[in-house]
Amino acid sequence: MKEIILKLENERFLSDGEFRRLIEDDSEETARFLTERADAVKRRVFSNKVYIRGLIEFSNYCKNNCLYCGIRRENQNAQRYRLNKEEILDCCAQGYSLGFRTFVLQGGEDSYFTDERMADIISSIKSEYPDCAVTLSLGERSRESYEIMFRAGADRYLLRHETADSGHYGRLHPPELSLENRKKCLYELKEIGYQVGCGFMVGSPYQNTDCIIEDLKFIRELKPHMVGIGPFIPHKDTPFRNMPQGGLELTLKLISILRLMDPNLLIPSTTALGTIDVAGREKGILAGANVVMPNLSPKTVRKKYTLYDNKICTGEEAAECIICLKRRLAGIGHEIAVGRGDHIGFGEDI
Ligand code: SAH
Repeated sequence: MKEIILKLENERFLSDGEFRRLIEDDSEETARFLTERADAVKRRVFSNKVYIRGLIEFSNYCKNNCLYCGIRRENQNAQRYRLNKEEILDCCAQGYSLGFRTFVLQGGEDSYFTDERMADIISSIKSEYPDCAVTLSLGERSRESYEIMFRAGADRYLLRHETADSGHYGRLHPPELSLENRKKCLYELKEIGYQVGCGFMVGSPYQNTDCIIEDLKFIRELKPHMVGIGPFIPHKDTPFRNMPQGGLELTLKLISILRLMDPNLLIPSTTALGTIDVAGREKGILAGANVVMPNLSPKTVRKKYTLYDNKICTGEEAAECIICLKRRLAGIGHEIAVGRGDHIGFGEDI
């Protein structure tokens, strides 16, 4: 197995059969060697620096009905909220003073936030904080909409592809959503000039090794700047309430595989990973991740933005979160990087 891992490090990709062996091998020795190589590759490019992105969950209204997601349209138990422009700007002000230079506006697909309203919010943030990057994570919109928001100043867009196997995609989503459209959005975003992030849940219902291999192939084809992966965690008010959650070990292994596929990739150690294991985010960083996305949403709405059960960090203020995070990173010999942390470019060496 060591040869396969070294081949991945040197050639940055594997055959289907090799990927299958690596993904399905659950020996400790393989896990240890994979982590070791991914950590070495990460340190060569990023040293012990971790980028922070401030997450502002500005609306949990959603017109979609994804089977896994706690803010799906049909969840009558979700208490819906949206932040107004002033509230969003307050989050940015607080975040800026805590050292954040990237703000991620994430929400459900909420038609209240028209292109005009988004453009106004984005340009207000950019004029107050010209040294900051604005990242959007608002789901699928038209090319024209993405263009308008880009012209208003948005720099980056996160849109997880969720799974690159269209049959599997169909089992996670209602019929009106398609993998084809999701991919189309990602390519359009890239063409427009956004730095783009895709990603998928690990251990989502009906996922198998073939699906994961498809995910890795799609990632190589898209060449995103960021790839976000985290374990699937069931939410009590969704059709997947009784499905098993995704595994810690498999998530860590896939973080390491992604790191070896692209030494320069931005890989967040996600909140979902920190939810299934108390030291999950630290383990993610040690497996090759280099980004964390602390929550800047007002404390009053945090519990309402519940995509899955038992989400962590819903009771703290942003300032408390950053203190906790710094302590956790120091505990594993890492520290927060200063500045926007723009991506270096797929496959480029520095
Ligand atoms: N509406 C936006 C933002 C979605 S929320 C969009 O469509 O992109 C961000 C991510 O949370 C999703 O892309 C999904 O991968 C993840 N997520 C949703 N429900 C989840 C669950 N039950 N467990 C783990 N991750 C989940």
